[in-house]
Amino acid sequence: MFPMDGQGGFDEAAQQGISAIGAMDDYELSHTYTWSVVHHYERTFSGDSAMETSDGIADYLASEKYLSTSPTMAGVIGKFEKGTTTIVLISDGNDRYDPASNTLYWDPHSALATTSGGRQSPALGLGHEMTHETGGKTADRLAGIPDQAYDNAEERRVIVNYETPAANQLGEGTRMDHSCDHLYGVSSPTQY
Ligand SMILES: [Zn+2]
Repeated sequence: MFPMDGQGGFDEAAQQGISAIGAMDDYELSHTYTWSVVHHYERTFSGDSAMETSDGIADYLASEKYLSTSPTMAGVIGKFEKGTTTIVLISDGNDRYDPASNTLYWDPHSALATTSGGRQSPALGLGHEMTHETGGKTADRLAGIPDQAYDNAEERRVIVNYETPAANQLGEGTRMDHSCDHLYGVSSPTQY
């Protein structure tokens, strides 16, 4: 069972610094649709019905470790981990960052085939969304500027300046647009 009652009860526990995984066994609640936990970064996670708490956190930590081997992404993670963005683990492949709610949506099992035939891991997708988060007010401004190849100038900033160098450092595929050929499932977030 996952700890979520929709009444904020678990959030109270989280704010008291109770270890999320350790606290799991103490909760036996009737609703399992979403859950939220806090791990050692004091980062709030939540997930949809298809996501296991411990699996989602393990996927996140494995992805951070993998991305940190890219000097470009190591810098992004360093910034990101100083923030308080909520991470929502999803299972529909629709990765995105919502600056209005400071929420990052990430599917740890959705890899991406680029329009030029390359392949990108779910972890790189996480790094892409983290880069949006770390863009701050610049990102907000650029998002309003249309861009023919990348939809908007913020996507161009993230893909050209961060995603592509990181992909090259990690040996993954790159893209010249803000698009994909298709998404496909992988069992581990670092697979592609
Ligand atoms: Zn993006």
